[in-house]
Formats: sequence, structure tokens, C-alpha cells
Amino acid sequence: MKSDTLPLQLQPKEYKSANKPVWCPGCGDFGVLGSITKALAGLQIQPENAAIISGIGCSSRMPTYLNTYGFHGVHGRALPVATGLKTARPDLTVIATGGDGDGFSIGGNHFLHTCRRNPDITYIVMDNQVYGMTKGQASPTTDPNWQKGKLTPAGTGINPFQPLGIALASGANFIARCSSSDSNGTARILMQAINHPGFSMVQVLSPCITFRPEQREWKNRLIPAPEAMQATRDPAEAARLLLTDEGIYTGILYVGDRPVYQPKLESSITSIEQLEEEFRL
Ligand code: SF4
Ligand code: MG
Repeated sequence: MKSDTLPLQLQPKEYKSANKPVWCPGCGDFGVLGSITKALAGLQIQPENAAIISGIGCSSRMPTYLNTYGFHGVHGRALPVATGLKTARPDLTVIATGGDGDGFSIGGNHFLHTCRRNPDITYIVMDNQVYGMTKGQASPTTDPNWQKGKLTPAGTGINPFQPLGIALASGANFIARCSSSDSNGTARILMQAINHPGFSMVQVLSPCITFRPEQREWKNRLIPAPEAMQATRDPAEAARLLLTDEGIYTGILYVGDRPVYQPKLESSITSIEQLEEEFRL
């Protein structure tokens, strides 16, 4: 059989760009980069049919390292850009990536309303409970007693943001938590998140080994969710898994079936002149 008659299978490495990551050696974000490439290869999504959208921060550098379309935007604004792109190009696989500071502080309001709106995009948040790129300030998900923050030497003293509980309460359709230390397991969850219609929220615990080296111990506190691959559709059961103090549940923790936000793309505007007229003051 001639080789050109075989189906071409894209391998994970073919989704990586030529740019070498500038992350600190050992940063959890390397594992997430690997998981994203495995998920895209697992679904055989053509690179030109995928777009990775980010804000600002260490993990927001992700689009630079992938061989897809990408947009490295401004702080906290990945989700509105991703929603706009998906609205205009529903044929694309749109993935937003970023960190806990970018997504839950500067972009916190966008996070709430993207959960409510339910566009068919996947949001991967590499949560390390710190602002890494600006050298170690407490973030919204930082434990109140962490006393090594550059601006909070006595701890923040305030409750951490609970992103998955808030995602559930705000209407996210698919909620999962995984660990950067489990590259293949995270890739499997990302494949399901991408395939699930509606807003899929995936929190990846991704240690910042420079400013939070103690996060290497996270892997000892992880608990696979019961029957992890058959996620609950009961919000009350999901809330218990998401907000418990028993440990850190991982896996797909909630799946819903709310209608997807996808407005019709009909417009009477067909020229630049008409567009200018529409926005003329
Ligand atoms: Fe990763 Fe932390 Fe280094 Fe940023 S500062 S690249 S989050 S280890
Ligand atoms: Mg962070």
C-alpha cells in the first residue's frame, strides 16, 4: 500500500510551535502544554481549526507555544475575546487559557458572565494560587494564611475564591479539576471538555515551583472523584465534591445540559462603509 493512501495522523508534537517555553524549569505549565497537544491530537483537530486565546501571566503565554491560531491579549480579557471569536466563527475549536490571577481577579467578572452565557468554549485555568509572572503576590485563590506573599507577609486573611463552586453556581456546563502532574489524565479530560457543548471549565492544579515550592505536595492530596468518568448531573452532589475539605477531588465533577449561546450570524451590513455608518457618532 502506498503511504499516501493512509490517513494522516497528527501527533502531539506537531501542535507545538518552534518557540521554546520560557517557564522556570519544573513549572507545572509544561505538563499542561503537553496535555493540550495530546488532547488536540487525540481529537485530530487540524491546527488551523483551533484558536488558543489568553490574557497575561506565565500560563497565558500558552498560545505562543502552540502551532494553532492564537491571541495573547490583555490582562483578564481572554474570555470575552474567546466568546467573540466563537460567536463569529462557530466552526472553530476555541480554547481560552490562563492563570488564577488573570482569570479570577482582573477577569473575574468576565468569568461569571461567561459561565452564565454558556458559549461553546473551553477554559483551562492553570491555578497555582499566586501571581507568578509578577514575582509572588497572593492571588484570589491563595490560602489566607500563606505568609510569603510579597505584599501580604502576614497572609491575606480573606477567604480564597472557589472557582469551581462559583462556576457551578453561575451556570458552567462542564466542570473538571485535574493536575499538571497527570499529563495523560488531563489530556483525556480536556478532550471531553472540548467535545462538550457549552462552557467547559477545567481547573488544572499547576504548581509554581519558584514561588510556591510546597505545591509539589499537592499530588498527595488528590482524590479521584467517584466514578470520575461518569460525572454527576446533580448540582448538589457536584457542590459537595467541589467545596469539601476532605481533600482535592479531581476528574469531571459536573456535567450540565443548558442551551449553548450561539447567536445567529445575520447582518444587513455588507460593506465597510455601512459598518462605519453604523458606528458614526
Ligand atoms: Fe511557572 Fe511560577 Fe516560574 Fe511562572 S514563576 S514560570 S508559574 S514556576
Ligand atoms: Mg497564578
